[in-house]
Amino acid sequence: MKLTAAAGFKTLLCALALAAPARAAGAPAGQAPDIILIVVDCLRADHLSLYGYGRPTSPKLDAFAREAVVFRRASAPAPTTLLSFASIFTSREVSSHGVNALDRALGDSALTLAGILKIYNYRTAAFVGGLNLNPLFKLDQGFDDYVHINRTDASFKDTLPAALAWAKERAARGEKFFLVAHGNDLHTPYVFPASGLYDKGFKTSPRLGSLSESDERVFAVYKRRLKLAATGEVLTLTDGDAGHLVARYDEGINYSDALVGDFLEKLRAGKLLDNAVVIITADHGEGLFDHDYFFHDFNLYEDTLRVPLLVRAPGLAAGEVTEQVALIDLLPTVLDLAGIAPPEGAQGLSLRPLLYGREPGAAFSRDIFSESGVGGKAVRSGKWKLIWAPGRAELYDLESDPGEKKDLAAKEKKTVAGLKARILARLAADRKDQLGEALRSPDGFAAEMARDDAWLKSAYKEMNEAAGGR
Ligand SMILES: [Zn+2]
Repeated sequence: MKLTAAAGFKTLLCALALAAPARAAGAPAGQAPDIILIVVDCLRADHLSLYGYGRPTSPKLDAFAREAVVFRRASAPAPTTLLSFASIFTSREVSSHGVNALDRALGDSALTLAGILKIYNYRTAAFVGGLNLNPLFKLDQGFDDYVHINRTDASFKDTLPAALAWAKERAARGEKFFLVAHGNDLHTPYVFPASGLYDKGFKTSPRLGSLSESDERVFAVYKRRLKLAATGEVLTLTDGDAGHLVARYDEGINYSDALVGDFLEKLRAGKLLDNAVVIITADHGEGLFDHDYFFHDFNLYEDTLRVPLLVRAPGLAAGEVTEQVALIDLLPTVLDLAGIAPPEGAQGLSLRPLLYGREPGAAFSRDIFSESGVGGKAVRSGKWKLIWAPGRAELYDLESDPGEKKDLAAKEKKTVAGLKARILARLAADRKDQLGEALRSPDGFAAEMARDDAWLKSAYKEMNEAAGGR
């Protein structure tokens, strides 16, 4: 049975009363697995040791990877939490779901991953944090329990114990479950304890070190210029400052890695992994001065879009996949592994053939799209990647230049034109903004978000002006 958004839950439930749940072709018989999705906010793939990083940042995830399938080239649909989660939960590109700014929410007609699993008798819960995942954005649709910590610095330390207790309770009651656990430890400002692992020996500016508490919130930096919120003063970061911030980010990975590793060990000890699909990924990465940016949200380089993706499932052999995949693939993949057909309108592909080492087929040579909430689009097609924003196009050969250092747009005009046409065709084909709606905010929170949004927009404007319309 195909699920359709138009059908709605009532029709679906009627249909389910008449027919047994559809089993996707080739799905295993036996008990459907529990599903555990762990999302490490802001975690870029190439700063994990398992993806080849120089610092040994991720010993626990490295160990987990030895019993999982590791996707080497997984892309986020957007460099922003809200946009990306809306895509993960609906398998729609940002232009299709339309939850593309902090004044938009996911509409009631959305068929979410949690909502579909709930229809199939899963108990569903999310333990998440940060402004972007506030229930006002209605990403909580389909969750029996949606435990949200409304702080940018919400840590795995806060979310994982409750997630573990919830999972144990489900297991004790013999209930199938879908669990989302999210931590914002890697989001600026870095408030996790200093370990001194990597942050040592950097000669930082004394002014940066003596910022008042209200100015300490180093959020976004463009071209090494940090504007202080309280006074408007602009600090120019030195190499030492940048090195210090990157080292702190890496210490944050190590910190999160230990928390997630501990969570996995406790799940294992409680026999909760025996019949579980575990997926570990990130909603987006982080610009760490590679392209003059520090932060995410507004740049579409691989720093902010290439995310880790690890999948472990009962009976699944460890391995590596090099095909390009996208986070919109998670919904059809999870449903496929649970023996449920994907809903109509899902834009991702089930990764099951890649997980089980089958020939991927022509479908996997597709283009992979991303977009930012501030007007930029990107497409990866074969080895090429085009970043296209108003007044600016950059083309990179990701095979020979994975760090995106050599812009070939001026040399490869035909390729640029072809890729622009592919983005436009995709946008035209998308059912535009189908699932988004204006944010309904009865309390003062809307004003708080508007302030945050206005602050970000003016920051982007300044950054774009500083870039000289590049
Ligand atoms: Zn995020």
